[in-house]
Amino acid sequence: MIRSRIDASTRVAALFVFIVLSIAVIGTSRPLAAQPTGVMHVALDASQASRKIFHVAVTMPAAPGAFTFVYPQWIPGYHGPVGPIEDVVDMHVLANGKTLEWRRDLVDMYAVHTTVPAGAASIEVDFDLVGADSKNGQNPPLSTSQLAILEYSGFVVYPQGATAEGTPVDASVTLPHGWTFGTALPVASQSGDTVVFKRASLYTLVDSPIVTGAHEKAFPLGGNQELDVSAESDAALALAPSFLTGMKHLVEEGPALYGGRHYRDYHFLLTLSDPIGYEGIEHHESSDDRAPEKYGKDTKVYRPSADLLPHEYSHSWNGKYRRPADLAVPDYQAPEKTDLLWVYEGLNQYNGEKLATRARISSFDDELDRLAMTAAAMDMQSGRDWRPIRDTADGAPFLYVAPNNFYEQRRSAGDFYSEGDLIWLDADVTIRRLTHDAKSLDDFCKLWGDGNDTTSVPKVHPYVEADVIALLNKVVPYDWAGFFQHRIDEIRPSAPLDGITNGGYKLVYTDTPSAIESLSDDNGHELDTLYSFGATFSLAGDDGSGDEGTIGNILTRSPAFQAGLAPGMRVIAVDGRKWSEDAFRDALAAHKGGHEPMHLIVENVDRFFDVDVPVYTGERYPHLVRDPAVPDELAKVYAPKTFVAPPEAPETPEP
Ligand SMILES: [Zn+2]
Repeated sequence: MIRSRIDASTRVAALFVFIVLSIAVIGTSRPLAAQPTGVMHVALDASQASRKIFHVAVTMPAAPGAFTFVYPQWIPGYHGPVGPIEDVVDMHVLANGKTLEWRRDLVDMYAVHTTVPAGAASIEVDFDLVGADSKNGQNPPLSTSQLAILEYSGFVVYPQGATAEGTPVDASVTLPHGWTFGTALPVASQSGDTVVFKRASLYTLVDSPIVTGAHEKAFPLGGNQELDVSAESDAALALAPSFLTGMKHLVEEGPALYGGRHYRDYHFLLTLSDPIGYEGIEHHESSDDRAPEKYGKDTKVYRPSADLLPHEYSHSWNGKYRRPADLAVPDYQAPEKTDLLWVYEGLNQYNGEKLATRARISSFDDELDRLAMTAAAMDMQSGRDWRPIRDTADGAPFLYVAPNNFYEQRRSAGDFYSEGDLIWLDADVTIRRLTHDAKSLDDFCKLWGDGNDTTSVPKVHPYVEADVIALLNKVVPYDWAGFFQHRIDEIRPSAPLDGITNGGYKLVYTDTPSAIESLSDDNGHELDTLYSFGATFSLAGDDGSGDEGTIGNILTRSPAFQAGLAPGMRVIAVDGRKWSEDAFRDALAAHKGGHEPMHLIVENVDRFFDVDVPVYTGERYPHLVRDPAVPDELAKVYAPKTFVAPPEAPETPEP
């Protein structure tokens, strides 16, 4: 999953990328029902996708007597119990054509009990999945009138106690008439709008989403890699040549970083749709990448989130092949323990941005801007005074779905991505300095990826924290356990910026936002004054919608918070003038270096009040600048490994 756009000041691509279901590598302590053998059949009718109605018929082997089947609860990659059970309707259970009575379990609501009659060898469960909203962060199915993202985790039930890896499934899907599709799932045959897939394990089925639509096109990337784009319009399929060239570099840079490939074929399943918005969900042989309609052709849209596809691709190695043992659960009902997400997502945030920059999907200058935003956001938030990074990972299942407001005091699930990015950069620069540039974190990644190509159905190679430490010590002996104890487990009042400073750069603040920060704010329709006034403000969208002047987030260590403001309050007037973005920025400039506070009229629900804010800094935005006293390690970190990149033009702000 990508880092979410929760933290306004680091809104680089969002991502929660997710984990997949797991393999039956790890045992479970729960008592398991006798496991039926035989093949399940799953027929998905998605022909009414534009109405958000999906019909499912599942046939599963069952023996006469008491029988329990389950609906997937813990969906890989989402790191939480988010299976959309509330959207399951019109469910019927049958055996030999006769309807059976059923009852939901009173404790585990994802389990349903029934009784299989004598003489029956299987039961059929029919249901509809309805009403899934198309919005950020939702798990599929997501659909509009022109396209859909289908994920079988929403379209199956299976016998309680069956393992995902040990359950063979014959699956099919019927698409809306004339729609084409992309997926990593091997196809057996197609007749009209119905596609029949080759027999696969339940694990592989759930790990293989489908994108489909009326405007869908495959772009070969070389070798066994492909970009499958489904968009709201044909116009959106005209991808920028620079984007496509970067994607072709990416599928070389990924294996160059990790060693061998752990997929048979890899499909980037890119959905371009404004209603569906940003998200990224990782899978072993594909990724479900979602972005606005113009992402592939408009640099203003994709530059701030250039790491979306590289992040998900990197997860094929880090997250899917190498997976924390705590996340490698045998089915979709066993809770996932998320304590190692600082490796799964933190290392991946670092490697995803690194791959985006090495492939030159992102420029090096843009990556420096991205790092500056991350460093400032982590350094300024007050939540770090009480919550260590470890707890943001431990608490990921509830932090991923926590509200946006007060994220700065709460800390968010985005923090093990963002601070993880800084910590793994620190580890990389530490290795480079200890070995005088003879080695780097790339050497760790090659050990991590095991080096050899996977040619059959990909497997999971689970790990525990001690394995991470041992592999780092294999690259260069050091107190790596202490390194991570200090950065992951301890309360630290300031962010870990040693990777930046020892890498030859300094974090500074100027009165001008970087190109990436400007583009992020424009795309998010937001005014970000976190490092001066101390708050973000919503701005009107392109369609004029939105509550102009409403405070989104606020830094505790800021003039705005000290003056009594809070998320949800709306600024009506600034120094006697009606609120507008220009009026507010003019006021910040007018008070710079002064000593008279800014005077606001503020609305809080149905009351109005006056607030004086002592803000005298003018606007402040984070940047990284070169420190000539220290060698430039960052230029080496982010340099391509498989091709020679042309020199970059000096950075020019987007108009
Ligand atoms: Zn991720």
